[in-house]
Amino acid sequence: MDIVAHGLWAGLGAVWLARRRPVSRGQGAGAVALGMLPDVAHLLPVAAWSLFGGGTAADLAAYAFAMPGGEPAMPFWASEAAHHLHCIFHSALVAGAVAWLLARVPRWWRVLAVPLAGWWLHIVIDVFTHSADFYPAPVLYPITQRGFDGIAWNTPWFMAVNYATLALAAVLLWRGRRRPS
Ligand SMILES: [Zn+2]
Repeated sequence: MDIVAHGLWAGLGAVWLARRRPVSRGQGAGAVALGMLPDVAHLLPVAAWSLFGGGTAADLAAYAFAMPGGEPAMPFWASEAAHHLHCIFHSALVAGAVAWLLARVPRWWRVLAVPLAGWWLHIVIDVFTHSADFYPAPVLYPITQRGFDGIAWNTPWFMAVNYATLALAAVLLWRGRRRPS
């Protein structure tokens, strides 16, 4: 899914959760940030190459908006680092291992479970909103880099339905908010 919709879904999810249990503003912001991070992290090596290596800002933009096979030619280190960062942040195995480790320390878990839920939501959404020929989410990385053949999120009707659903969810949440008595 596109990064803006990822952030909006994570934000709406945090608002929904805050109606049911205590969620601080920082935790909500963390959920939005971690809900978008998987699509930002893999840009960092490409940004480093465009800033300090031989790349340009146009290369970074071309990479960020590339269709499969249309990525700009990059040095081996930049393309490998970008590829594996994309895999790491879209892997349920990696996210599960991080969650398992943090759950060992209850005071960290109390603070970080909500932000982590934003990351998990990103992965679950991407599994179904990427197709086999449109960057399938490598949900079982590092065991395999293959992904599920879902609906590519850039399909126009899907974009329309997704943003309409986001708007509807926002209206329902807003109408369902607790009014001060
Ligand atoms: Zn993603």
